Amino acid sequence: MFDKILIANRGEIALRVLRAAKELGIATVAVHSTADADAMHVRLADESVCIGPPAARDSYLNMPALIAACEITGADAVHPGYGFLSENARFADMLDAHNITFIGPKAGHIRIMGDKIEAKRTARRLGIPCVPGSDGGVTEDAEAMRIARDIGFPVIIKAAAGGGGRGMKVARTEDDLVVALHTARTEAKAAFGDDAVYIEKYLEKPRHIEIQVLGDGRGNAVHLGERDCSLQRRHQKVWEEGPSPALNASMRAEIGNTVAKAMCDLGYLGAGTVEFLYEDGKFYFIEMNTRIQVEHPVTEMITGIDLVNEQIRIAAGAELSLKQSDIVLEGHAIECRVNAEHPATFRPSPGKLLSFHTPGGLGVRVDSAAYQGYTIPPHYDSLVGKLIVHGRTRNECLMRLRRALDEFVVDGIDTTLPLFRTLVRNPDIQNGLYDIHWLEKFLAAGGME
Ligand code: ADP
Repeated sequence: MFDKILIANRGEIALRVLRAAKELGIATVAVHSTADADAMHVRLADESVCIGPPAARDSYLNMPALIAACEITGADAVHPGYGFLSENARFADMLDAHNITFIGPKAGHIRIMGDKIEAKRTARRLGIPCVPGSDGGVTEDAEAMRIARDIGFPVIIKAAAGGGGRGMKVARTEDDLVVALHTARTEAKAAFGDDAVYIEKYLEKPRHIEIQVLGDGRGNAVHLGERDCSLQRRHQKVWEEGPSPALNASMRAEIGNTVAKAMCDLGYLGAGTVEFLYEDGKFYFIEMNTRIQVEHPVTEMITGIDLVNEQIRIAAGAELSLKQSDIVLEGHAIECRVNAEHPATFRPSPGKLLSFHTPGGLGVRVDSAAYQGYTIPPHYDSLVGKLIVHGRTRNECLMRLRRALDEFVVDGIDTTLPLFRTLVRNPDIQNGLYDIHWLEKFLAAGGME
């Protein structure tokens, strides 16, 4: 096992990793920018190192500074959290060259899944169902037109290097397609430095359903059920729940086992999420995230398994201790991402938390690094905290969420709490009847005004 883990992240996820390390008896090193000197993860870690100025590229993305911090403190492993360097294969290689373990998958697998064209090709080879579309990148307009006619309009153009919901364009007609192709290429080049794009059938009313996996890189892999992340704004998840209101046990077992088998064959190591769109009883692979995700607590609440603990143990060379039959889903969990944003306009609202009171009680978990008097800096994402609620049934979970949201007090800044208080009382949400476009339509219709 490791002696000391350096946590290359900030905010609630840095705290989440710190908690898992402490429970394993492993010493922790926090890193921070000058803007985060007073952050909770810095206070709670055994040691801390300042790695640069506020801008992420100079601090949390600064690989030489992170390696130096490992050498100064003698850390023998790095947990990257999510975002920042968590899916950076070059960082994993660099750590390896310094004999420091990257708590995550093999660099080769990060590379494959980081290129969405390569990821899709790999998924198809492993027997995972994909969205119909181009086999690889498309460069010629004529080729794009041929593929679009073949799969049928509407289609979606995506950047191979895309992420975070950016670099996607929908085309409903042939005229649209030519324009969309050119804008997508230009935008992809500007945002990701790579203009490779590919084409997929655009699904009109799918749900976003993702499967959580764990593998030990020795041919053992299991799935931990699904999370339904269909409630999105601008392709960003807002509310996540598990199990999905749209699946039953046999559908879950079928897609889960397909994914687990694929991960065995790939020799996947660590935690990962295989994301699908789901429409009319069919699953379509869209991408794989080779890291812990923001919404991982949903799975922890229904399985009782500590995913970060598993990540650390697997990275240290342990065999997977879980068999598929050990994983039993119990009850229902919902996560709300409470952001420092206006609940209707979504304008960022960084600033000082004049009061901060989190809900409690049975089945209620708050993952947050905020505290009363803390100032949310403007330099990073706007997550204030995640409220995760568990109940024996979906209905109990919804009632508990309603009361937990009413207990949650944040003063001094705008948050998205009022949005969730509205959603939890909405009949469509209560009945589980929503797809990936539901929230945008609800907001466009003035649902929060
Ligand atoms: P990113 O890596 O940027 O998050 P994804 O490929 O995971 O991109 O897609 C993000 C979201 O975009 C999905 O959850 C879904 O809402 C939408 N989306 C992606 N592909 C399609 C598609 N083929 N049809 C309809 N919506 C899509």
